[in-house]
Amino acid sequence: MKNALVCGAGGFIGSHMVKRLKKEGFWVRGVDLKFSEFSETEADDFVIGDLRDQFFSRQIIDRKFDEVYQFAADMGGAGFVFTGENDADIMHNSAMINMNVLDICHKRNIKKIFYSSSACIYPEYNQLDPDNPNCKEDSAYPANPDSEYGWEKLFSEHLFLSYLRNHGMEVRIARYHNIFGVEGTWDGGREKAPAAVCRKVAMAEDGGEIEIWGDGIQTRSFLYIDECIEGTLRLTRSNFPGPVNIGSDEMVSINTLVDMVAKIAGKKIRKKHIPGPLGVRGRNSDNDLIREQLGWAPSCSLRDGLEKTYAWIKDQVEKME
Ligand code: NAD
Repeated sequence: MKNALVCGAGGFIGSHMVKRLKKEGFWVRGVDLKFSEFSETEADDFVIGDLRDQFFSRQIIDRKFDEVYQFAADMGGAGFVFTGENDADIMHNSAMINMNVLDICHKRNIKKIFYSSSACIYPEYNQLDPDNPNCKEDSAYPANPDSEYGWEKLFSEHLFLSYLRNHGMEVRIARYHNIFGVEGTWDGGREKAPAAVCRKVAMAEDGGEIEIWGDGIQTRSFLYIDECIEGTLRLTRSNFPGPVNIGSDEMVSINTLVDMVAKIAGKKIRKKHIPGPLGVRGRNSDNDLIREQLGWAPSCSLRDGLEKTYAWIKDQVEKME
């Protein structure tokens, strides 16, 4: 039986990865500061603890795992990442986790390790035009991410690639673009745009109004969680280290996103544009490299992903009421 370690297994992507690895017959150990809020973990062993702590990390990385997935990070949506208020935590905590996990895996002679980087590493100067952003993998340099979150991810990409170069580790790196779906954070300040919009629409009356940060003309693409997991596994088991985008190339404005969710909800919704943390003007996944290297790219439509996500968030909202 193969075994896998999932760091950040109590989080959104990590908990979905645990489920998928269990379906494939793996023995899975999950590690996180917390359990998943939304469903019982399926991991064979789930350890609560802090991956910034070297001693703890050495205890849980106690064998030669066949695959390690490193998702643990101090992160959130625009309200967490772009206000500047959490920069020290984001940089310190995530870098500490990456340095510990990677080095201890190397010392246990573990070869295969996946690292979740982000589209936030791309330079701001290529993402000023909402209709024409450039997020080709090789456009990352000269580097100028618009957040400390992006700088930490870029540092950690280099860290992982150094262990590939110097220690022969089979590092695989994806740059995720806005992953969303069921059992993702939907309130509390760390939620991302699709979840926040679904929550606001679910809570609004038909004919009501919801608040949108900025003019809503800023563009993004959003990838449904199942395809994120599929792409991650394909990359991890391929011979290509990356970094490579894992994202959807169906770019929409935030205003369009709101209209789509309102339509799914069957509600008429007015948008009130208010100041708020925004990030870059435009961003879209460029999928040429992943197609070329893996012969695969995400294809699920935004509408399909939103239907499932809206239904789940509406249910969560109703349970709260
Ligand atoms: P998430 O916040 O749901 O999961 C991260 C998990 O890491 C959390 O459960 C958190 O408790 C855990 N964690 C944080 N600090 C820890 C510590 N010191 N020790 C142990 N666990 C700790 O985030 P997610 O959406 O599942 O993202 C997973 C990874 O993918 C992250 O590295 C994130 O930066 C990256 N990523 C996500 C997206 C996205 O859209 N979701 C986009 C780009 C990159």
